[in-house]
Amino acid sequence: MPYTVALTGGIGSGKTTIANAFAALGVDIIDADAIAREVVEPGTPALKAIAQRHGESILTAEGTLYRARLREIIFQQPQEKNWLNQLLHPLINARTQQLKLLATSPYVLWVVPLLVENGLQQQADRVLVVDVDTATQLQRTQQRDGISLSQAKSILAAQASREQRLACADDIIDNSGTPEQVLPRVAALHQHYLSLAATGKD
Ligand code: ATP
Repeated sequence: MPYTVALTGGIGSGKTTIANAFAALGVDIIDADAIAREVVEPGTPALKAIAQRHGESILTAEGTLYRARLREIIFQQPQEKNWLNQLLHPLINARTQQLKLLATSPYVLWVVPLLVENGLQQQADRVLVVDVDTATQLQRTQQRDGISLSQAKSILAAQASREQRLACADDIIDNSGTPEQVLPRVAALHQHYLSLAATGKD
């Protein structure tokens, strides 16, 4: 299994931007959100199981998962959240392991927005947190997603706090400057992770 650096951060903190910078240095990226979508794509056994449990109304006209409806169900019925987690977690884990084994770079960057919320830190050799102050996070999220300040605030409130996330960090990237300003830090961390991966240390 390759050395695994988990990259996390709150909404709009810059995970994708930072992951792209590591990818440009030749690091294989494993995207936890993409895997979570992949395991419920049309034609998958998991989507069939969800449709069997909740009826065809859980699918859109195109046959994809009607996420808003599923979110509503699990919000109202916590036991359905458990059922869904029991279905999806093994599939997500298996696919994650498979992608790690397929990776060819000396270490992989595993991008996991909800690492701290889901307590997944132990599954990584190292935790890298992208950090910006809350005001910057709100402003970038609003700008990117075209949402109101109160919508952005309510998304933030549902996530781990900045302090909770930083408490789990082995390394921190301050992304409050321009995207260019962060590149030397990415390059330095890359060198550090190459040597950690080579010695197998964490
Ligand atoms: P999410 O969790 O919502 O997917 P994210 O953590 O992946 O977000 P990005 O999508 O990388 O964050 O960044 C959020 C927004 O902020 C994007 O529009 C991005 O272009 C912008 N952004 C990222 N880093 C910087 C920066 N250093 N300076 C200015 N804008 C930035």
